[in-house]
Amino acid sequence: MSIPQSFIQELLARVDVVDIVGRYVQLKKGGANFMGLCPFHGEKSPSFSVSPAKQFYHCFGCGKNGNAISFLMEHAGMGFIEAVQDLAQQVGLQVPDDDISPQEKERAAAARQKQATLTDVLEKAAHAYRQQLRISPRAVAYFKGRGVSGAVAKRYGLGYAPEGWRSLASVFPHYDDPLLEESGLVIVNDEDGSKRYDRFRDRVMFPIRNVKGECIGFGGRVLGDDKPKYLNSPETPVFHKGRELYGLFEARTAIREQGFALVTEGYMDVVALAQLGFPNAVATLGTACTPEHVQKLLRFTDAVVFSFDGDAAGRRAARKALDGALPHASDTRSIKFLFLPPEHDPDSFVRAHGTDAFARHIGDAVPLSRFLVDAASESCDLGTAEGRAHMASNARPLWSALPEGVLRRQVLSELAQLAHLDAHELSDLWSKTAAQETTRHPGASAPQRQAAAVDRLMPAQQWTTSGPRILQPVAAEIHRGHRQLPFRLQQVREEPRAAPRFERPPDPSPAQVRLHHTEEDRAHPPVPPEVPLAFGNIGEFRRIHHTATGRPSSAHRGSASGR
Ligand SMILES: [Zn+2]
Repeated sequence: MSIPQSFIQELLARVDVVDIVGRYVQLKKGGANFMGLCPFHGEKSPSFSVSPAKQFYHCFGCGKNGNAISFLMEHAGMGFIEAVQDLAQQVGLQVPDDDISPQEKERAAAARQKQATLTDVLEKAAHAYRQQLRISPRAVAYFKGRGVSGAVAKRYGLGYAPEGWRSLASVFPHYDDPLLEESGLVIVNDEDGSKRYDRFRDRVMFPIRNVKGECIGFGGRVLGDDKPKYLNSPETPVFHKGRELYGLFEARTAIREQGFALVTEGYMDVVALAQLGFPNAVATLGTACTPEHVQKLLRFTDAVVFSFDGDAAGRRAARKALDGALPHASDTRSIKFLFLPPEHDPDSFVRAHGTDAFARHIGDAVPLSRFLVDAASESCDLGTAEGRAHMASNARPLWSALPEGVLRRQVLSELAQLAHLDAHELSDLWSKTAAQETTRHPGASAPQRQAAAVDRLMPAQQWTTSGPRILQPVAAEIHRGHRQLPFRLQQVREEPRAAPRFERPPDPSPAQVRLHHTEEDRAHPPVPPEVPLAFGNIGEFRRIHHTATGRPSSAHRGSASGR
């Protein structure tokens, strides 16, 4: 997407940087400018100045400065285009984009409108839940019992969804409005839609906010021992749990101040840690940590510490987080893993041992490189040639997922040493293995064959140049290494809403289908049985390929390097 410079100028002339910054920072008029506490560094007296005349902000403490667009990028963690779109929407401008057809533009505008409507509905519910918390002694007692103060409850907008099947009817007089179902607040359980009831009943409520601070969903926890203990909003056009982190909006200033983000497993961890002096904590929402989670966090900081409970489930979650973090582990970033003793979660650990002990524990967290080596060596007897070979084979996909750089080379030498090989030998061996995979060596493992098949079917460059935007990260991962791919495909399949542009094009005509069957394809069917397992079925696979490339051509291989 390319946005003309003239549009940027017009946009910056229409928005007011004081309004934009004022959404996030409390500003006070001081002479010609506005002053406030700098959101980019910790301070007690204001040295952050915003000039309405120059449409600039500047911090006399840390030197950060810029305009409305850079503020949204730096402070709200938006990408450039996202920031431009956000501002354009506020002043009612349409972002010009030559790459997009008018129909697509219309569809995108409709989708944005829908999202805005849904967040309004959710915001209204969040407000009602907060009011309910005030008048529910049981819910207040629950939070008090967990040591949560009024200030922290306010900061996180905690609430209470009362008992009863249709409590929200008092908030939304049109209880059968389809928006209530779409927002995930109401469950419709009958064909004719006559059975409607509140999703969240008798639960303490944690509003989930996006980086702009809009409510996009809820987590609800029972007060007692009922099941399920935690309940989240379903996937909706505004809420994708594989992408959102609980507490990120509330934590973003603290993340900058403390210099790192602490990723925990649940909302109660986040709230409790904020109470106990760690306001830089966030949590995944009942899912494994994805590369998208990691990417989102890294917009705010270069240092991430994942904290896991010390049990087997925590260990498994850590492995998933490792997979998510590897593609982002560049040389300037620090990614670490913290394992708590088996009997503890972060909340109970801090209560038992104190904040200092927890801070020390964070300081001793395991760096990604060491965790990678540990994970590869797990249950391998490094005293035997077989064990060392097994370790190396475990390590290869992990190592391959790392971005090019010094860290990657260091890890290679470490692994080579463990394998009793020379680093060059090991990397030669691995690049040979990789080459064999792309020529469909029959000995390749199932995921390797899968990845190679996907590569043939969807050459990476086609995806980046003409593919739906949602697939660009997938393409980037194809470039980076095959390891993430089956996982991403799985994710796309599980979260179809995450791929709104996957609309089904007309099925290719028989002639077009025949085009796929080049001689080589006949000799080596392009999709081994594993791929349909990951994606649904071959037809869907081809349709998506067709949507992405705009043509059902068979010239996959040639066009990959040619475009
Ligand atoms: Zn500053």
